[in-house]
Amino acid sequence: MKLSVPKETSEGERRVALVPEIAKKLSSQEVEVVLESGAGESAHLPDSQYEEAGASLGDGFSGDVVAKVAPPSAEEIGKLSEGTVLIGFLEPLTNGETAKALAQAGVTSFAMEAIPRITRAQAMDALSSQATVGGYRAALILAEELGRFLPMLTTAAGTIKPAKVLVLGAGVAGLQAIATARRLGAVLHAFDVRSAVEEQIQSLGAKFVKLDIGLENAESEGGYARELTEEEQQRQREALADVIGGMDGVISTAAVPGRKAPLLIIEDAVKKMKPGSVIVDLAAETGGNCELTKAGETVIAHDVKIVGPTNLASTMPDHASQLYAKNVQSLVELMVGEDGALKLDFEDEVIKGACITRDGDIVHERAKEAANA
Ligand code: NAD
Repeated sequence: MKLSVPKETSEGERRVALVPEIAKKLSSQEVEVVLESGAGESAHLPDSQYEEAGASLGDGFSGDVVAKVAPPSAEEIGKLSEGTVLIGFLEPLTNGETAKALAQAGVTSFAMEAIPRITRAQAMDALSSQATVGGYRAALILAEELGRFLPMLTTAAGTIKPAKVLVLGAGVAGLQAIATARRLGAVLHAFDVRSAVEEQIQSLGAKFVKLDIGLENAESEGGYARELTEEEQQRQREALADVIGGMDGVISTAAVPGRKAPLLIIEDAVKKMKPGSVIVDLAAETGGNCELTKAGETVIAHDVKIVGPTNLASTMPDHASQLYAKNVQSLVELMVGEDGALKLDFEDEVIKGACITRDGDIVHERAKEAANA
């Protein structure tokens, strides 16, 4: 089987789908690895390292399997021949046009986002690996943007109180943000609508914020949160406003797959914050958890800085690529038969669950709904 890796072309994307260490492992398993020259450059991985690892340089779209990071552009889809297998982030629940174009091109596509989050597939969980990077970076952005220390300091010039930080949404990114901000010395508070995370929040040394809004547990299938009703959201926003007002910083990561990000921080809550406070809104790309967030920008309102970063994982391309490549390797290994040939077992829960298009159709139910919406 031939696996090829093109250079990412979407704006600001610095990650690469394969790193030399993984290229070497796959090469030793009868997988021929071909890399477009310069594909690893932005992640500080020169062509020579891939060549030393057994890969050759060539057409990144020529493989039986093509591994990418970002969703393919129309031009990139045009380079995929019929029957090619594509692996990457494909935004199956929100990007219907890409799914339609892939189906039309006869590409068999697998979305990293659609890999079932079961124990066996943990090594393929790219949502988690990249959210880990995002959560870490968000805490660093907060530290950088605040005009004050995060830790408590006792100095000859006086004592500094530690900063109070609230993390909204304690999934993979939120938990990593808690851990990172804690290491920097902040006092952490966190809230999530899934009550199962209370223990995880506490085990990281943060205080679980309990909101008296009559919400028991909003966990739905697959361990994800369900979308709250408009009335529940309203009560949540009002209750959160007072909590937010007492914080120096907020990192918000709340998300519901395939939906616009829930609005948790209204302008009134921002008004209640002390001048100089900072909000880092990791949900910026899907509409923002804060009413005032602008994706890709930093807004200052009521003397509060609201940072809306996009594609944070790409700002740390070296390790983000390393983790992503491991996810790709684990998925590719499921696709190779003993003789090294491509073998897709659609009875396999992971292969079946992650497949978006096949034989000219969109085969993933929710992706199909999104494409027809
Ligand atoms: P996500 O990015 O979809 O959402 C981030 C967080 O926002 C979640 O914790 C969610 O509960 C929370 N949220 C949603 N609406 C909210 C609201 N209105 N207010 C506050 N918080 C809100 O989630 P994720 O980080 O991708 O993962 C969520 C969960 O999936 C994990 O915590 C875990 O249970 C499960 N998971 C399982 C595996 C596995 O078993 N292999 C791996 C990773 C994640």
